[in-house]
Amino acid sequence: MSLLLCHQCLSWTRPRNSRCTICAERVDLGARDPSFEELAQKIGAIEHTLGVVSFPRKLLPDLGTVYVTTNGFIFLPHRQVQEPKLVTGNSTGSSIFWIVAGLAFTPIGILTPFLRKKKVERKIVPVLHPVRLEKEQSDRLPLFLMNHPGVLFISLETVGSIKKKGSWWFIKRKFGGVLRFRMLKRDKAFHHNMQQLLNIDPWSQFRA
Ligand SMILES: [Zn+2]
Repeated sequence: MSLLLCHQCLSWTRPRNSRCTICAERVDLGARDPSFEELAQKIGAIEHTLGVVSFPRKLLPDLGTVYVTTNGFIFLPHRQVQEPKLVTGNSTGSSIFWIVAGLAFTPIGILTPFLRKKKVERKIVPVLHPVRLEKEQSDRLPLFLMNHPGVLFISLETVGSIKKKGSWWFIKRKFGGVLRFRMLKRDKAFHHNMQQLLNIDPWSQFRA
C-alpha cells in the first residue's frame, strides 16, 4: 500500500490493518484530508531553523533542514534541481590521439601527468538545495507536508525525550519509536541550536 498522511499524528505512514504504524490510530481511506488551515494550526508557525541534518530513512530523502515551530519540529528535505555544472571525467576523443602519437617518441614518465589529466565538461546534473523559509512563510508548511512524503512533522505532544550521543541527536517519541538526526560536519550549527533550544521552555522538559 502507498504512503498516506495520518490525520491524527500528521506522519506519512504505510497503514497496517488500517492503522497508522506510528500512532496506531485508525486510518480511514474515505475521510477527507484536513484543510490547510487545520494543518497550519497543528504544525504551528516557524520560530527559527535548527540547521541541516542527515536523517537516514528507507526510500526517502535523508538530507534536509529542521525548523522549530510553535508546536514542534518539521523536517523539510532538500529540493532536487537539474542544473548545468562543470564535471570531470577521463580524457577521451582527440586527446587520446595526442597521447598515442606521443608514446612513439616520448619516455612514459614524462607522459604520466597527461594520462592522469581529467576532462572537464559542462553537464546537466541533479543538485540538492536546502529549503529556506522565513517566519512569514509559515503558511507554506501545510503545502510541503501534503505534497511530499519526505516531510516529517514531530509534534511537541509526541516527544518523550531528546538527547545527543556523538554526532547524533535522538528524539524518543511517546509512540512510533526513536528518530535519529546526524549533524553534518559542514553544518555544526545544528548541534549548537539544539542545545540552546533545550535550555528554554517548553523544550527543556525533554532534555535527557
Ligand atoms: Zn498516525
